[in-house]
Amino acid sequence: MSECVFCKIVAGELPSRNVYEDDELLAFHDIYPLAAVHLLIIPKTHIVSLAECTTKHQDLLGRMLLLAPRLAQTHGLESGFRTAINTGRGGGQTVFHLHINMFGGGERPAQG
Ligand SMILES: [Zn+2]
Repeated sequence: MSECVFCKIVAGELPSRNVYEDDELLAFHDIYPLAAVHLLIIPKTHIVSLAECTTKHQDLLGRMLLLAPRLAQTHGLESGFRTAINTGRGGGQTVFHLHINMFGGGERPAQG
């Protein structure tokens, strides 16, 4: 029903290598990794981008951010990692469902 790739992943209609899931959040490996470890943290509910968020999303956003260091611990990124939230076409966003990119373990050149 939804054309959103991430909503399809949440619904189990597309495969994903999940690393974390709870009632509100899902985290999985990016299918086109830009680093040795490239994880995506998304809300299960469809939110287009950070620009659509309001104060009602602040708990959800906090939970998304706090998940990153927890995932780092279980993915060999204890020495550190980089997070990026791309917002809008001008911000390099390519999937219009809010997500935190989490990079670590050495970056790879962008593919094609
Ligand atoms: Zn979506």
